[in-house]
Amino acid sequence: MTCPICAKPADPNYSPFCSRRCADIDLGRWLNESYRVPATSTDPEDEAQPHRYDLPH
Ligand SMILES: [Zn+2]
Repeated sequence: MTCPICAKPADPNYSPFCSRRCADIDLGRWLNESYRVPATSTDPEDEAQPHRYDLPH
């Protein structure tokens, strides 16, 4: 098995990667792609603020 990041022989300790660094790179790519899916630029929480000032006395 070879590292999917740099194509070097994989290290069993970091399978299927060759090193901790390549495992982190793959994780970073995965996170970036998952963050890229939702293309919403507006934050819905801005319009759904809890009514902190309507607390009962
Ligand atoms: Zn690698």
